[in-house]
Amino acid sequence: MSEGKRTAFLLSIGEELLEGRIVDTNAPFLAEEFLGLGMAVVGMHTCGDAPGSFAEQLSRWDGEVDVLVATGGLGPTVDDRVRAECAEFLKTTLVDIPGAVEPLQDYFSKNDEADAPEYFLAQGRMPSGASAFRNRAGTAWAFYVRLPKGSLLCCLPGPPHEVQAVWRDGGAKTMLADSFGMPEAHAFGTFQTVGVPEAILELQVRDLLEHGKNPRMGITARGKVVTLSAMAHPEGDASAKTVLEATAVELRNRLGPVLFGRDGDTLAARVVRVLASQGQSVATAESCTGGQLSQALTDIPGASKVFRYGWITYADEAKSSELGVDAALIQKYGAVSEEVACAMADGARQRSHSDWALALTGVAGPDGGTSAKPVGLVWLGIAGPHGVTAIRRQQGTRAGRPGVQQGAVMDALDLLRRELLGIPSLDSTPSPD
Ligand code: AMP
Ligand code: MG
Repeated sequence: MSEGKRTAFLLSIGEELLEGRIVDTNAPFLAEEFLGLGMAVVGMHTCGDAPGSFAEQLSRWDGEVDVLVATGGLGPTVDDRVRAECAEFLKTTLVDIPGAVEPLQDYFSKNDEADAPEYFLAQGRMPSGASAFRNRAGTAWAFYVRLPKGSLLCCLPGPPHEVQAVWRDGGAKTMLADSFGMPEAHAFGTFQTVGVPEAILELQVRDLLEHGKNPRMGITARGKVVTLSAMAHPEGDASAKTVLEATAVELRNRLGPVLFGRDGDTLAARVVRVLASQGQSVATAESCTGGQLSQALTDIPGASKVFRYGWITYADEAKSSELGVDAALIQKYGAVSEEVACAMADGARQRSHSDWALALTGVAGPDGGTSAKPVGLVWLGIAGPHGVTAIRRQQGTRAGRPGVQQGAVMDALDLLRRELLGIPSLDSTPSPD
């Protein structure tokens, strides 16, 4: 435990994690939260439910870090040993958390006439000397306690939504922020871009990414979205936030409209926001993406203000009967063509009475490609107040069918974003492969 930045270690408990059946999402969630508190996560570990596994980790880390956070093992089943092992480690006993046990009894009685068994009621107990965190999302109470060599141990439940509930509303975050947080010591932000592959975007910001710079910057790609991260520290008279905002201005100047959002922003959220602010609506007509574009839009709270209709017209006859695409057009040019993409967009716009319509028709693969229409070829149609056009986009195929579909969705969203903001559309998006 050092004088400077406060440290944390994250322990994920559960046999299902070690066997690869469940992906650990608790540690990444907590890691990001600790970043926000200005604390350093110095390690993460996963252990099983076997007797002694948890206590072994307590011995290993007590005294090494300021905070040790464990998730899992607090539930009512026989493999949930965290409470008992913690009490044993502290050479103490389990005591009732005030006000916890009676509601557990009531909860059990509602589902079953019998008295709640001991192992169920144990969810309302903690080692003597510990303090409780409320869990509004589940039955297992959480707690924190000082370990013999000085580290603070926080024991949280396993299910991710319960971890988040205990963290946010149960008092865990507040307690740790009050005890150890140094949020002003740094400012962290991410900047989202679309339309330029990582290797090319990197060239535009290479000097900012050099080692030893403030902020410390990173670059990651996920599909078509390339994210720049920045961890800023105070410098001279400038606060960490001032340093971060100066970088934000620099990135805006260098990257222009390729930059579409900050922090948790997604391209779909940005599009929904711009549509809402302009009082406009969009409809979708999808073939190769099977509804993923409308899914992306409707994932955004408030989408109902801007999105009312979406069609999945996978078969040729569906394109004709639902969107009015002339069968002769499909016959002549094929379903994956500029002409059909335009007709789909036009039909969707007219039939939905929306301001805009986006259409997607392409070859998602892995089979079905030809030399003229290879796997990954997608035509994006867009119909709007100024007419109808379509653009051709070749998606990378290394990420398979899902990669082609997601790439097409992102291209469609970006096409509309650029139209709405009056930004020229990219002539072609280089494929990420
Ligand atoms: P437990 O409290 O250990 O009984 O965990 C209950 C359930 O929460 C497990 O069956 C998992 O499905 C889930 N869970 C536990 N730990 C994690 C984790 N680290 N990440 C994601 N899910 C988890
Ligand atoms: Mg478990």
